[in-house]
Amino acid sequence: MSDPQPDSIPADAPFDRPDADVIIRSSDNVDFRMFKLMLSVASPVFAGMFTLPRAVEEASADKEGGLPVVRVTEDRKAVDILLRLCYPGTVPDLLTLDDVKKGLEVAMKYEVDSAMSFIRRALVSPEFLDNNALRVYAIACLHKLWKEAEVSAKASLRMPREALWDAVTVHVPELHSLPAEAYLHLVRYHRSFGSAAAPIVHRWSSEWIIYANRYSFCFFKCIDCTDSLSRLSHNINDGKSKAIWWSDFVTSVEESVKEHPLAPASMLALASNERHLEKPLRCSSCRKTVNRDIYEVIKIISSMLEESAEKAVLDLSF
Ligand SMILES: [Zn+2]
Repeated sequence: MSDPQPDSIPADAPFDRPDADVIIRSSDNVDFRMFKLMLSVASPVFAGMFTLPRAVEEASADKEGGLPVVRVTEDRKAVDILLRLCYPGTVPDLLTLDDVKKGLEVAMKYEVDSAMSFIRRALVSPEFLDNNALRVYAIACLHKLWKEAEVSAKASLRMPREALWDAVTVHVPELHSLPAEAYLHLVRYHRSFGSAAAPIVHRWSSEWIIYANRYSFCFFKCIDCTDSLSRLSHNINDGKSKAIWWSDFVTSVEESVKEHPLAPASMLALASNERHLEKPLRCSSCRKTVNRDIYEVIKIISSMLEESAEKAVLDLSF
């Protein structure tokens, strides 16, 4: 039996039980007291290690307090995640994408298949998709998680396309190892959807009479600002018209979605542009409802774009 490592420190609960029968020592010398049976049930790799006497001997070069010590190459955080994935009744806190990545790596290496659905769900949690969809995409592709690659690609449509290559705002260390094709396919997917999104918005201009018949928005219905400067066209049969400022606004949104397809907030920002709102805010009738009406339209357009995004296809042939 070798001497105890002077610099090894014990892990916290639940990995400090005195009745444990094996110690897993991380690369930075933290000792996790565990039970072989738990590890064997969760991981075929550990099971093989514990059932083959020679493998145990090789893996357990040291002993501490009479227990075999299995040294692993993972650091304290990675081992903590791995063992919590194996320990019944516990789940690791995957608070950052680094944690999720470590979880994926150890679960795959030690074949803890029962943990994969938990980690895959964590990878595409709204928090990570909202803050760094590109990094989620890169991690998913590198681990061949195609469903998560598609989900994160869709989330990237909420980013301006320029942000996909803006090194100042995007922290993606995995781009060093991501195949160039995987990255290019994401950029193409984004551009292709932007091109398809613009005509969806354009329909609000070209088929406006359909919407004028369906909705009571001020830019279709107001009779108090019907002067030729405010109104673009009339249908003499039913008296409907659309406001010029409204057409300008829709054209701005149409241009915007080419680069930033799923972004209700950026549409709202466009709507608050003084250039668009100057006329309706001067009309005593329009000013009462224009903000609400624009908000409703943005919701409808966003819903149409979301529906279209569900059908967008990401090329995963790399
Ligand atoms: Zn008006």
